[in-house]
Amino acid sequence: MKAVVTLLLLIAPPALAFDVTMSGRMEQGGIVTGAAPVGSSITYNGRTVPTNTRGGFVFGIDRDAAPSAVLTVTDSKGAVEIRTLTIAKRDWKIDRVDGVPQSLVTPDPELTAKIIAENKIMAAARNQLELAPFYETGFMRPVEGGRISGVFGGQRILNGTPGSPHSGLDFAGPIGTPIRASADGVVALQRPDMIMTGNTVVINHGYGLETVYIHMSKIHVTDGQHVKQGDLIGEIGMTGRANGPHLHFGITWFNTRLDPETVLATLPPKG
Ligand SMILES: [Zn+2]
Repeated sequence: MKAVVTLLLLIAPPALAFDVTMSGRMEQGGIVTGAAPVGSSITYNGRTVPTNTRGGFVFGIDRDAAPSAVLTVTDSKGAVEIRTLTIAKRDWKIDRVDGVPQSLVTPDPELTAKIIAENKIMAAARNQLELAPFYETGFMRPVEGGRISGVFGGQRILNGTPGSPHSGLDFAGPIGTPIRASADGVVALQRPDMIMTGNTVVINHGYGLETVYIHMSKIHVTDGQHVKQGDLIGEIGMTGRANGPHLHFGITWFNTRLDPETVLATLPPKG
């Protein structure tokens, strides 16, 4: 792959073939929006980036992204522009969490098999491609005034055992606190009693962007329901692997986990 990219760069004309603009945060866990000529097809590190009828696009950057990435834009006439993107590195904290049910930190083989099956259901919900640009409403905090009790990206130590990095933003609040849809969208998944995530909702906002709401005490939406930004979708709880009542709020671009704080700051609600 690298050799092919280098060769193309050598034979490409030095001037940019056509206009591609981008804004957002080119950093680990970041999000970038852009515009290319109408009819272009785009890939980010080889993954197809869907474009809208105006040439607009959005893509997300992984927590562990390498220092450089490749964006390839092919216009409707077949002209190709390849850009090497510099991805800023971030420092992630060590995040100690105690009081988590031990059976969910070191699950036995039977529980592990169920968790793997549920992870596949979540991944499939996140991979659905929806071409309505719901995300253009911007994203709002799903809990009003909730104290942030866990940030994205921290290397988790659960009851002393190293776990996966924290994949979202935690809002602490009393059980029953309303949880609202962060942006317009369609419910891709609602499922009670998942082992790790408890009462779970995934909302698809189009063009690969989804939000995830877990550990809820109640779910107030159904599969396929269209929601508006700010609609009540559930209530804070502590179902699944949680050591206290909170909402874990995640944002993904397909299965790439993004820093929700970055997305909230980069694509704020339009109002
Ligand atoms: Zn969390």
